[in-house]
Amino acid sequence: MRADDSITTNKNRPCILVVDDQEINSVMLQSALSQLYEVYTASDGSQALEVLNKYHQLIDLVLLDIQMPNIDGYQVLLKIRQTDRFKNIPVIFITGKDSAEDEAKGLELGAMDYIPKPFNMSVVHARIRNQIALKKKSDLLEKLALLDGLTEIPNRRNYDETFIQEWRRAARSNSPISLIMLDIDYFKQYNDNYGHSLGDETLKAVAKCLSDQVMRSGDHVARYGGEEFAIILPNTELRAAASVAEKIRNAILQLAIPHEFSKVSDFVTVSLGVSSTIPTISDAYTVLQEYADQQLYKAKQAGRNRLVAEEMPRN
Ligand code: GH3
Ligand code: MG
Ligand code: MG
Repeated sequence: MRADDSITTNKNRPCILVVDDQEINSVMLQSALSQLYEVYTASDGSQALEVLNKYHQLIDLVLLDIQMPNIDGYQVLLKIRQTDRFKNIPVIFITGKDSAEDEAKGLELGAMDYIPKPFNMSVVHARIRNQIALKKKSDLLEKLALLDGLTEIPNRRNYDETFIQEWRRAARSNSPISLIMLDIDYFKQYNDNYGHSLGDETLKAVAKCLSDQVMRSGDHVARYGGEEFAIILPNTELRAAASVAEKIRNAILQLAIPHEFSKVSDFVTVSLGVSSTIPTISDAYTVLQEYADQQLYKAKQAGRNRLVAEEMPRN
């Protein structure tokens, strides 16, 4: 598949980018690898970077020649290692530079493996298989590190990273961003009376309900901690965020999870604090978080099973 072909990948097959300026090499590799892999080809360093820019999310491995005109393989590798969105893609050098010094240099620059030409195809296959297995493992670990183990929705770390990105984006585009902070009412009573494992089940049910309710792509639900959840709503003004919060409050009540030890309802309920602002780049995202948290506190004070929404004051 050439770089400019429209991409119709088979998701189950790992994807390899072969970079070589000599067509005979890339044709041979492509035909040998395409039985097992989706293969893209690039005929020089700058084309390789173009393909990576477009398709980095699909690519599991780069097979990289070193000697190429203009941008050589070493430079491509450096660029891959220095670019956040590429840096987890493993690179194997496959090259005519076969001295020990060349190999050491390639590995020091961050190549995962080094195959001298002429190569034996079954060795190439085995080395690729190893690197792709490692990549799949590290992708999975990375994904799991961003999910909450109990509820399987994004965790606090994920929330912090996402919030920083969305906050910057909103500041750049001068657009509003809203935050909903949500806390289950009388949850200590729930745990103390029904037991921790039923408490866990309820946390899972609440998390699922939040994910179901927050349908708009671009909105982010996360478990903030304990029995608290947060929802980041980019491009959303206070009024719209408050209506999402009210929909959520109602949906949780409709789950009708019995809670006879709650002082506010026969069922599990939540309180929500909602706030919104158009950020400036000099503000930290935590100012909105603190303000939304204050609104949540007011909702608790006012009796729980309710929301309080207020625009963050500008100073
Ligand atoms: P309020 O209405 O003011 O929010 O009162 P509350 O009882 O919900 O709040 P409090 O902060 O006193 O208690 C929170 C409880 O949440 C304490 C703990 O038992 C429970 N909790 C926190 N994390 C978990 C968890 O992962 N699993 C379970 N089962 N319970 C948890
Ligand atoms: Mg709490
Ligand atoms: Mg609570």
